[in-house]
Amino acid sequence: MMVLLFGPPGVGKGTQANLLSERYKSTKFSIGDMLRDEVASKSELGTKIAQYLNHGALVPDDIISAFARQFIEKHKADDILLDGFPRNMNQAQNLISDLNRLSLSLKVAIEMHLNETELIKRLINRRYCPQCNKIYNYVTNPPHQEQVCDICKTTLIKRSDDNEKLIRKRLGVYEKETQPLVGFYKAHRIYERAEATGSQEEVFKKLSNIINAYTN
Ligand code: AMP
Repeated sequence: MMVLLFGPPGVGKGTQANLLSERYKSTKFSIGDMLRDEVASKSELGTKIAQYLNHGALVPDDIISAFARQFIEKHKADDILLDGFPRNMNQAQNLISDLNRLSLSLKVAIEMHLNETELIKRLINRRYCPQCNKIYNYVTNPPHQEQVCDICKTTLIKRSDDNEKLIRKRLGVYEKETQPLVGFYKAHRIYERAEATGSQEEVFKKLSNIINAYTN
């Protein structure tokens, strides 16, 4: 089973992807985390990727699709949860070709939705653990101890692209580049939309209900 979770920055994809991959024992492909890890490794590729991340722009499709291809081939026997990929039409087409080649298919593409004011509020208050990638929100979901990850006790950090200027830029990129996926997946009859309002548990329930409906 392969499930795609997409939606604007701040909608809670990462948090829900962590919960869902645990619930469904699926292998998570979180491209944003992979890109940040590559940047942190200071490799030549990481230096190139950083230029895009620092400007809130999408990383070129050839780099992204190469990461995805390698991951899917390695985990082709697993249930896979795609978090944040594909993010434009070209990536979506590349994914279909790769899946066809491996005789795999996407079961459902779920768009998480939230209004812009709430997205910005969530992103400004977001912190994450650079070690285990757990995501916190200082207002709605703070860690037990200030600035320290509940799980691995690493000091939490704010993502460098979670500032108001880059947030607005990323929301614009989402609108322009990622929104067209809605029509694409509707045409494939695998599109679902979930309102991401409410608590983490409530959103998790909505997403699980959708996934169950497609897999049972
Ligand atoms: P995220 O962690 O999903 O918020 O992504 C952080 C940043 O990584 C984005 O602003 C982009 O620069 C880059 N990124 C993540 N996913 C993709 C993708 N599918 N295609 C291109 N760039 C991406």
